[in-house]
Amino acid sequence: MALIVQKYGGTSVGNPERIKNVARRVAAAQAAGDQIVVVVSAMSGETNRLIALAKEVQANPDPRELDVIVSTGEQVTIGLLCMALLEMGVKARSYTGGQVRILTDNSFTKARILKIDEDRMRRDLESGHVVVVAGFQGVDDAGNITTLGRGGSDTTGVALAAALRADECQIYTDVDGVYTTDPRIVPEARKLDRITFEEMLEMASLGSKVLQIRSVEFAGKYKVRLRVLSSFQEGGEGTLITFEDDIKMEQPIISGIAFNRDEAKLTVLGVPDRPGIAYQILGPVAEANIDVDMIIQNVSHDGTTDFSFTVNRNEFDRATKILEDVKAHVGAREIRGDRSMAKVSVVGVGMRSHVGIASKMFRTLAEEGINIQMISTSEIKISVAIDEKYLELAVRVLHKAFELDQVGA
Ligand code: ADP
Ligand code: ASP
Ligand code: MG
Repeated sequence: MALIVQKYGGTSVGNPERIKNVARRVAAAQAAGDQIVVVVSAMSGETNRLIALAKEVQANPDPRELDVIVSTGEQVTIGLLCMALLEMGVKARSYTGGQVRILTDNSFTKARILKIDEDRMRRDLESGHVVVVAGFQGVDDAGNITTLGRGGSDTTGVALAAALRADECQIYTDVDGVYTTDPRIVPEARKLDRITFEEMLEMASLGSKVLQIRSVEFAGKYKVRLRVLSSFQEGGEGTLITFEDDIKMEQPIISGIAFNRDEAKLTVLGVPDRPGIAYQILGPVAEANIDVDMIIQNVSHDGTTDFSFTVNRNEFDRATKILEDVKAHVGAREIRGDRSMAKVSVVGVGMRSHVGIASKMFRTLAEEGINIQMISTSEIKISVAIDEKYLELAVRVLHKAFELDQVGA
């Protein structure tokens, strides 16, 4: 008998009919002889609705109270799914994150899981119940409700699988696996049968929201067998996230293309080029808890240089304000900003053993007249920042140039 954790996302539980569909799938899995723990998201659109509701009352919602509000979305779905299972004669019990005791730190709206009590779930499983747990939420050691960041139900699923030493964590969503890029942007995108953890980690961190990045980190750390599949399709193997060592066959050079539209660029012009300047500019930005992504410092001319970096677009105004203060302090000439940037990245472990990937990427973009504004690389990815209006074009032409639409590419 295997222990399986199944996570169903918002679209998969988007209305009562779909919840009944999930119940049928869960019942079938249990009838096949496995123990099943289910993690569910809020019904699609519900988390957005709750956030908007909160903002109608408090423009800048108090993080603790926001978590109290948004965590209710998942509480509704666990109850509904259990009812659907009970109607089918399947023994089922629902738990909120706090009831299981998914203990987190107290960073409201982006809490991290510290510990999970598994006793209650084990007892229920042993007495033949399906255990249904609310995704995206936990409780801190003072008993406050916390949430895990957008997309956090993936992380709940993987964390439960790790705690229970489950045989597999299955992430059921509205696509039948991980694709070479978002199939909504490139219809020719291909489903991957396998992708390595490292690649999935890069894809997730570079904007592919099919899995929340923390879920992939967790799976890597605790060696959870992780699979992405469709909740709307019968059968199908989905995409297995593998450890590189598991794969004996030759890897494709590029596995996928990730992108993120929510970038903004800030440039400090005419900064005196002296030691400590990067710290003087970025120190205050970091202190304000703003994540900086790509950074460029130009060659200096006449003793001054230009310094650019990117931040998430919703931090743009805050970052600009900070730089206005920094400007006088460091004696810079001007601050410029561009809030409509996007980042496109090609990802693949095969880059380690192949040269020419960057030049192919740059040539492809140049042929379309797309200007690259910033570049950053790691061992297995190359990212470029471009004007957001070229994003879809860039993803499409790169997908074609690297032949990701071809089987066996
Ligand atoms: P859920 O609500 O089930 O958590 P999400 O919307 O969070 O689902 O994630 C699934 C979506 O991720 C897909 O509908 C797809 O548009 C998007 N996506 C982005 N990049 C990829 C990719 N490389 N492969 C598959 N889906 C992707
Ligand atoms: N409901 C939460 C969200 O929309 C968590 C999740 O679905 O994973 O972000
Ligand atoms: Mg999701």
